[in-house]
Amino acid sequence: MNCVEERILHDGVIKHGNVLKVDSFLNHQIDVALLDEVAREFKRRFADAPVTKVLTIETSGIAIACAVAREFGVPVVFAKKAKTVNLDGEMYVAEVESFTHKKTNNVIVAKKFLNEKDHVLIVDDFLANGCALQGLISIVDSAGAEVVGCGIVIEKGFQEGGYRIRNLGFRLESLAIIESMDAETGEIVFRQQ
Ligand code: 5GP
Repeated sequence: MNCVEERILHDGVIKHGNVLKVDSFLNHQIDVALLDEVAREFKRRFADAPVTKVLTIETSGIAIACAVAREFGVPVVFAKKAKTVNLDGEMYVAEVESFTHKKTNNVIVAKKFLNEKDHVLIVDDFLANGCALQGLISIVDSAGAEVVGCGIVIEKGFQEGGYRIRNLGFRLESLAIIESMDAETGEIVFRQQ
C-alpha cells in the first residue's frame, strides 16, 4: 500500500454520489510533505518523458502540479475556468463538465503559454469520468503540443474516465485506483497495481 492509499483509508470520507472527500490533506487543507512524495513518485514514473510543461486545471490541481513541476524543473500552466470567453484568438478553449458541481465550464489557456514544441505532463487530483482530462488533452492538441502522459493522484476506477483515457492510447499513471467504495460501510477497495 502506498502513501496515497494509506492516507485515503485514514482520512478520506466517502460521500453519497460517488464523491470521496480528501479535503483534510489534498484539496482544502494540504499536506505538503505528502504532495512532495506524490511529486517524487510521478517523477519516477515519468522519468523517461521529455516534459517541458506541467498542465492542470484550477483549483485543486494547482498545488499538485507545482510540486510535480519542481521535480521536473519546468513551469506549471493551469487552465482557468472562464465565466465569459473573449474569443479574441489569444486563448485555447475547451468545454469541461464538472463532476463535483454538475455544470459545464469553458476552460482557457493563453496561447503564449503552450506551443507545438511543448511536451506536456497533465496532472490532476481526481479522475472520474475523464471530462477534465479530455478538456486538457484537447487544449494540448489545439496548441500542436504533445501529451507525454497523465498523472492522477486518485482514480475512481469504477467510473469510466480511466478506461476512456487509456483506450485513447494515453499513458495514464494513477497513484491510487479505487475499485469500489461504500458510503454506508466506509469500505474502500483499491486496485492492485
Ligand atoms: P472527471 O472530469 O474525470 O469526471 O472529474 C475529475 C474532476 O472532478 C477533478 O478535477 C476533481 O476536482 C473532481 N472530482 C471528481 N471526482 C471527485 C471526488 O470524488 N472527490 C473530489 N474531491 N473531487 C472529485
